Amino acid sequence: MAMLLPEQEFMSKADKYSILFESVKIGPVTARNRFFQVPHCNGLGHVRPRAEAEMRAMKAEGGWAVVGTQETEIHPTSELAPYAEHRIWDERDIPALRLMTDKIHEKGSLAAIELAHNGSHAPNHVSRAPLLAPSDCVTDLIYPKQARAMDKADIREFRRWHRAAARRSKEAGFDIVYVYAGHRMTIPHHFMLPELNTRTDEYGGSLENRVRLTRELLEETREEIGDNCALAFRFAVEEMMGSDGMQAHEEGRAIVEMLAEIPDLWDVNVSAWANDSATTRFQPEDGYQTQYVEFVKQMTFKPVVAVGRLSSPDMMVSMVKKGIVDFIGSARPSIAYPFLPTKIEQGRIDEIRECIGCNICVSSDNLGVPIRCTQNPTMGEEWRRNWHPETISPKGKEQDALVVGAGPTGLECAMQLARRGYQVTLAEGSDVLGGRVLGESGLPGLSAWKRVADNRTYDLQQRSNVQLFTDSQLGADEVLELGIPNVFIATGAKWRSDLVGRSNRYPISTPERMKVLSPDDIMSGSVPADGPVVIYDDDQSYLASVLAEKIAALGNIVIFVTSGSVVAAWTEFTLEQHRIQSRLIELGVKIIALNTVSAIHEGSCEIACVYTSQTRLIDCNTVIPVTERRRNTELYDALRTALDSGETGIRHLEIIGDAANPGLIVDATYAGHMAARSFERNSEDIEKDWFRREMPSLTD
Ligand code: ADP
Ligand code: SF4
Repeated sequence: MAMLLPEQEFMSKADKYSILFESVKIGPVTARNRFFQVPHCNGLGHVRPRAEAEMRAMKAEGGWAVVGTQETEIHPTSELAPYAEHRIWDERDIPALRLMTDKIHEKGSLAAIELAHNGSHAPNHVSRAPLLAPSDCVTDLIYPKQARAMDKADIREFRRWHRAAARRSKEAGFDIVYVYAGHRMTIPHHFMLPELNTRTDEYGGSLENRVRLTRELLEETREEIGDNCALAFRFAVEEMMGSDGMQAHEEGRAIVEMLAEIPDLWDVNVSAWANDSATTRFQPEDGYQTQYVEFVKQMTFKPVVAVGRLSSPDMMVSMVKKGIVDFIGSARPSIAYPFLPTKIEQGRIDEIRECIGCNICVSSDNLGVPIRCTQNPTMGEEWRRNWHPETISPKGKEQDALVVGAGPTGLECAMQLARRGYQVTLAEGSDVLGGRVLGESGLPGLSAWKRVADNRTYDLQQRSNVQLFTDSQLGADEVLELGIPNVFIATGAKWRSDLVGRSNRYPISTPERMKVLSPDDIMSGSVPADGPVVIYDDDQSYLASVLAEKIAALGNIVIFVTSGSVVAAWTEFTLEQHRIQSRLIELGVKIIALNTVSAIHEGSCEIACVYTSQTRLIDCNTVIPVTERRRNTELYDALRTALDSGETGIRHLEIIGDAANPGLIVDATYAGHMAARSFERNSEDIEKDWFRREMPSLTD
């Protein structure tokens, strides 16, 4: 049988996916292929418009035929600070949006804008405007403020604002304008939901009445945008609340039927945001929304776009062929790998870095800071650092580099140094590449996280200028013997077992016969002693909760003691907290909040209330503290000492990633990337140009 040559192989893969590269009409405009970056938040928006324009342009360059904004506030009564969304309150917002549309058009894509009025979901902290809703209600934010029921005059005003925003969208150069009823976050959606709309006038009661406002917005937006701009409707067909909310096969379906041919495009998903952007821990399957949205295409002749962490080209092809969607919608996969369409078109599937469903991107928006991504360190850095995911400046001069440690930091650093053209040696002490990612991806629900290591390992294996060594625990002598002048130390960090952490700065001693296991011990296969296990979470991120899940699933009695007020408080930012705590409760884990572990005895530990310091004893045979990590700096310290005391042949020595500053995996890949990009830049330049800043204009 004849072998395919590499280029032919790429071609045959590309043919297999050719259906994804057919152009599709959306009303009066045409998308060059089926890849559609649906609106997604990013912490840039009106606060950082240049950064957002450049980030969106990168998606267009990467082959997304349609590139959406994030939700765009249409009026000061929908003001979302501290979240940095986009804004189209008046004419003064047009230039920032025009910047984005021009850049998207330059790369051959269509620009879409998601007009949003967030009603009772908008805090209006800055504008101090009244909150608006179909019926009186308290805001769903943690904020003691209520929204008032809109009277007829309010509704007329709202419709006028929406019309004006649609008109301005066109002026700003958008090709597609959205009406947005989704995520339980906007006025049209609130009007649809009987729980939030208890009106008795023509805007309340029957479904027809509850949909009236949406219908009016669709018709009025159409009038404003004319016949050379498309009208999109984003609609959450299902709330995943059972009969307490909208269900795809009931009112969801009825609404699609009612409005079927009014918009030029249906963008359908599930609500609320935590369901739409579900993490891999709770929705391990890519394409998890299909079951809810697949009916839509049967009910309309208009094109349909849907999402669900779609990264697999085979799944995409099958969704189009089966008539489930016309467009492959994406937020997170387009963040993790902006060049996903281009790579599929070229048949270079193996080069795609897939989203791992960790929701670090989402956490950025929830923190009101620029977007970041575990898999794509260049995300959000396109403008302020001029980073491009596919290109990197070539090496200045021929040099060798040694990277010690093959966790996410070392793998990313080695990969980027290799892309720059240096001769790279990557040495790993253990018998596998991946570092912390291997341990964490072995925990329940996190297997997709292994992609961080797998994608980089594969890349490194393809390169002729890289040497990979496992089972190579290096000491200072070995490093000096290698004689490689540039050394990056990415030796990571290990969890402490002495309970030093946020709440307690002094070690707590353990009686000899009591078992104290660190998270690293558990991740490398140690098992707790028989009897109750106390997991002590002073870290408050995801880790303690997923360890609890693992250990409870083994059949142990688990007592989860946390210094926080809820389990895994930080995961509120990744939209997981509610699910995590529910899961632990379902698994029978006993949760003791607002307590620290203050002493360990044989067969028990003492816990103390964070407010009163009142103590009590809990029977247990194992304690697993998740508190703080100790940096592995031994090698770095020894090399630094050697360097300071004489000629070593080392020109560049740098400690990076968790070995320098323990953090999340996203921090590790970023640190590795940054070190590789910064190599050979002089430190004065780096200091001067930490990053470009968007300075407020002082003109009126
Ligand atoms: P990071 O998140 O910064 O990449 P990790 O802890 O995930 O950190 O990875 C660090 C890696 O470094 C681990 O795989 C560990 O085995 C390896 N390592 C630590 N010390 C040495 C050493 N002296 N020589 C080689 N490898 C080392
Ligand atoms: Fe995917 Fe995580 Fe990147 Fe978000 S941060 S795009 S969830 S890999």
